[in-house]
Amino acid sequence: MALKKLVAGNWKMHGLSADLDEIREIATASRDYPAVDVALCVPAILIERASRAVPGFAIGGQDIHHAEKGAHTGCTSALMLLDAGASLSIVGHSERREAQRESDAEVKAKAQSALAVGLNVILCVGESLEVREAGGAVATVGAQLNGSLPDSLNAEAELAIAYEPIWAIGTGKIPTVAEIGEMHASIRSRLVDRYGAYGSNVRILYGGSVKASNAAEIFAIADVDGALVGGASLKAADFVPIIAAAAAVEG
Ligand code: PEP
Repeated sequence: MALKKLVAGNWKMHGLSADLDEIREIATASRDYPAVDVALCVPAILIERASRAVPGFAIGGQDIHHAEKGAHTGCTSALMLLDAGASLSIVGHSERREAQRESDAEVKAKAQSALAVGLNVILCVGESLEVREAGGAVATVGAQLNGSLPDSLNAEAELAIAYEPIWAIGTGKIPTVAEIGEMHASIRSRLVDRYGAYGSNVRILYGGSVKASNAAEIFAIADVDGALVGGASLKAADFVPIIAAAAAVEG
């Protein structure tokens, strides 16, 4: 049975108080699509204001530190995000894996720390263009999953995986339908190997240049259970049609 789709926006380092109206508009519009779960992952400092502005709508963070607390200047723990009103966080985004040199082990520790406090997780994986062209995409993403999937899942918080080919992020390029299908099937089989039947319920999102014009085609691919959307999530006018496309596929 198809899983309920999740369409999550990643605002990256965008968002000021003046943008709360945009968040309100997205939250209000998303109520017209109850067949789709919608979330916005905003900068940590905006979480509290955003979650107060749109009660009941899922606001998330974009990263956490793996430790519960301690001497980690400038970092934010999973519990702090939860305390500020977040219900989820992205971990392991390729921009952090690259710029902050985050390892699979670190991403795994972050995911486990979030799930332990009841924060839902979107764990990102994805290959570079070089790897894709050399034919190593499935193996590379498989290795990332081996290293970064949490040891166990719990009933209190949900894990989702976002397959985000690095070369498709913010570039307007996307893999073919066959390439996305092959990758998502491979991720699904790894999830089932790791978590048994529960692995069939873990949502697998596609991310990388999703927009209104390609969303319907992407959402129709088997084992694409939603999307992680960057640039096109910043404005309701761009994001809401993507939510509508997910709802249309749900039927
Ligand atoms: C992202 O960074 O998670 C992303 C998918 O970005 P974009 O949609 O802008 O490619």
